[in-house]
Amino acid sequence: MLDRAVVDALFPSDLPEPSFWEEQYPPRALGGDAKVTRLGPSPTGFLHIGGLYVGMIDRALASHSGGAYIVRVEDTDQAREVPGAVEQFNRAFAYFGIEPDEADAVGAYGPYHQSQRERIYLTYVRELLRQDKAYLCFATKEELADITARQQATKLPTGYYGRWAIWRDKTAEDVQAALDEGRPYVVRFRSPGKAGERTKFTDAIRGELEHEANRNDVVILKASDQSPRLPTYHFAHAVDDHLMRVNLVVRGEEWISSVPTHLQLFDALGFERVEYAHIAPLMKQQGGSRRKLSKRKDPEASVEFFIEAGFPAEAVQYYLRGLVNARLAELPLAEALQAPISLAECGVAGPLVDLVKLEDIAADYVATLSGPEIVERITAWAATHDPELVTVLESSRAEALAALQVERGPEVANPRKDLRKWSDFRQAYGFFFPALFELVSDRADERLGGLPPELIAAFATDFADGYTDLEDGQEWFGQIRELAAKHGFAPNPKELKKNPDAYPGSIREAAQLIRVALTGSTKSPDLHAVARTLGTDEVLRRVRALAG
Ligand code: GLU
Repeated sequence: MLDRAVVDALFPSDLPEPSFWEEQYPPRALGGDAKVTRLGPSPTGFLHIGGLYVGMIDRALASHSGGAYIVRVEDTDQAREVPGAVEQFNRAFAYFGIEPDEADAVGAYGPYHQSQRERIYLTYVRELLRQDKAYLCFATKEELADITARQQATKLPTGYYGRWAIWRDKTAEDVQAALDEGRPYVVRFRSPGKAGERTKFTDAIRGELEHEANRNDVVILKASDQSPRLPTYHFAHAVDDHLMRVNLVVRGEEWISSVPTHLQLFDALGFERVEYAHIAPLMKQQGGSRRKLSKRKDPEASVEFFIEAGFPAEAVQYYLRGLVNARLAELPLAEALQAPISLAECGVAGPLVDLVKLEDIAADYVATLSGPEIVERITAWAATHDPELVTVLESSRAEALAALQVERGPEVANPRKDLRKWSDFRQAYGFFFPALFELVSDRADERLGGLPPELIAAFATDFADGYTDLEDGQEWFGQIRELAAKHGFAPNPKELKKNPDAYPGSIREAAQLIRVALTGSTKSPDLHAVARTLGTDEVLRRVRALAG
């Protein structure tokens, strides 16, 4: 055991005692059932959809119990930090309306970036060293690699334990000698775990669990020749969740195997244990099997994918909530978004993320919005993701509203469901705006169905020459019908089928020429409504482009 003076000399002389931090971060004055939750994203990459999923659960559990939800940036691995990651986290939380009560500069239990909590961690590392519950380890990289290699060769569990823990029982003299030589060291936890021991604990989702006890003398403070001197994840978890007075740790199931280590750390530090809830990972169906969503393989694994495409936040939240608690998928959206989340109802098998299902939910949701609401939402999204569209929407607001009124609104029985995400707007409605529309003038264009170019030109010329903007749909369509007959098209598809060589196509192919000229697409909302919304001048400009 090292002398207290030796231990203390390793730390700044003005480092506070634990009691200082305990007073600085007192227990919260909250109701008995209040849940204090936190998300601990590491800025080593952009937020994973699984992070948003857990954050949403944290947010709901805290809100419904009158507790608090914290976002703590776990940036202890500074070498792997990705620039802009923290900004992306904040953008994602804002976009999806899953904002914390405490984060960054807001909250009395900060700082909320681990890299700014060095002194707090050092206090507790010193405390464990003083009590001989931790020790200095000067093992070199080569020695550690050699230990691992020898363990693997004899099929032993790898790790720093038992006779492999070469610095665990060194004498104070040996330690002092290494210090005098100025050798860098890490601080390791002196694990109380014994071979063959088991640890039992309760998980709020999975119930009673039993695992092999931890025997590993895990590193708690990283190398002494680095600045700032930061702890490892395990140690920071114990110190931060204690001092931030978190009482419910919701995190991915990959951490279950670390619980025995974490419980030892809480106990050694004299902290009250926290409750754990380990969430099953989001899965993807691939062929006949399921696998975890992968950041490398699946674009939808990144939250940015949903933001860039402009999925409405409400629809994504609704969908994710349905994955957390299947019962919530049965409720209408507005109700489901307000309903509490129950950990007891969480599954232990990872739910499948089905983008098609999500898109359907999103289309249903957008169909409930009014034209002005949609324009507002698209404008807000496009400000970052499609600036040209903002300019067009601002200069042609009336046209945008008119376009969105086509087959939409409370009086329409089956409103159009052609917008699943804001980026669909260009594709579905861009043709309404002259600035976004590219005239169709190439008569060999495949959208025109391969009709003879001279026929297309003659048909379009006649249509433009005789065009009248009529209010009645049937009458308006009569113009196409008449011209179709004049140019030898069959009156209906049935007639064409009976005698395919007698006609260039049917009335359907003829109407399609006008559809493609007006919308650039072979599928569109009702053609008469489109023509009326565009106005005669624009109709003529587009059809004449096709006429040549
Ligand atoms: N920083 C950890 C991660 O990125 C957080 C784990 C936890 O929630 O305890 O996975």
